[in-house]
Amino acid sequence: MTLFTVGPVQMHASTLKIAGNQLPYFRDVDFSRVNQNIAQNIKSLLNAPESAGTVLLTASGTGAMEATVMNLFNESDNLLVINGGSFGNRFCEICAMHSIPYTSIQLQFGEVLTESHLTQHAGKNFTGLLVNIHETSTGQLYDIEMLADFCRRNHLLFVVDAISSFLADAFDFSKCNVDGVIISSQKALALSPGLSVVVLSERALRRVEKQERHSIYFDFNLYLKDIERGQTPFTPAVGILLEMDGRLCEIMKMGLEVIIKETAQRAFYFRKRIKSFPIQVYGFPLSNALTPILFDGNAKEVYQTLKEKYGLVLTPSGGSLADTVLRVGHLGALTHTDYDKLSEALAEICEVKQLCLL
Ligand SMILES: *Cc1c(COP(=O)(O)O)cnc(C)c1O
Repeated sequence: MTLFTVGPVQMHASTLKIAGNQLPYFRDVDFSRVNQNIAQNIKSLLNAPESAGTVLLTASGTGAMEATVMNLFNESDNLLVINGGSFGNRFCEICAMHSIPYTSIQLQFGEVLTESHLTQHAGKNFTGLLVNIHETSTGQLYDIEMLADFCRRNHLLFVVDAISSFLADAFDFSKCNVDGVIISSQKALALSPGLSVVVLSERALRRVEKQERHSIYFDFNLYLKDIERGQTPFTPAVGILLEMDGRLCEIMKMGLEVIIKETAQRAFYFRKRIKSFPIQVYGFPLSNALTPILFDGNAKEVYQTLKEKYGLVLTPSGGSLADTVLRVGHLGALTHTDYDKLSEALAEICEVKQLCLL
């Protein structure tokens, strides 16, 4: 099976090797060094300042999204949420669950987020903005500079879920005045799922300190205090931390630009190969992480055929997009040869069965 998914994705041989080892004990100086390396390398890859705080949280991305909202905001805030798909909607659900007032900017599938969506909400006493910079459910990559500028002008705390965009698209914590960024192990890092990292600005750290506590496991104060000595308050996903340390070292050696460029090249190569096919690629700004392709109501059938007959796994969609959209991932250990195989399989299915939209 070859995974053209967005997480878990095809893992690198070096990661698989680490994942096969006996786990070490973690409450000692050797493991503290691993955690400190991770925090340092992540900050460096995000271009976050030395003063930024790092939370190593054993939870999937949604756990980190919820924890970040709980630690930064409360009932006296008023948030703006970009809701262009199921991950934007998740931020709305989190705000509702924690009684945090919010307004969502609702986008239809295919609708591009523009300046005019934002300007209607300028000067309205909002205190923060939540965005999934790449809305993975549709493939749209939002304009981070536009959002950063809006937050700067309106004095909003800027929280970015970059889970499916980190290492696939350019990201600059300092330049965009980001206050909180969330990343996760199973997307472009191509590791096992279950570990997330949250990096916080000084302004965000001050908020965390003052926040009334409603949770023990998700109290960032504990994580921020412990990471100073390279530790976590509770038993972390020791194995995934080791996978992450190994992969980050490789990425630091290769250079961030090389990683992003390779992902962009895979996306470009695939998009070019399927240009003549009777399937549609959506027209909004796309992340390098994935290509959404549109079918005429038979997406589920195409998914199943590709998996069963060719051993190629695409990312199916949920909800209202389940019958029309499949997503082709470009993250992880994939090569142009893998995309040749996929393109040939798609061509066969489209031609032979006339499954696709003309
Ligand atoms: C994958 C992803 C998440 C995390 O989802 P989990 O299933 O909780 O790991 C969150 N936000 C975005 C944008 C994602 O792509």
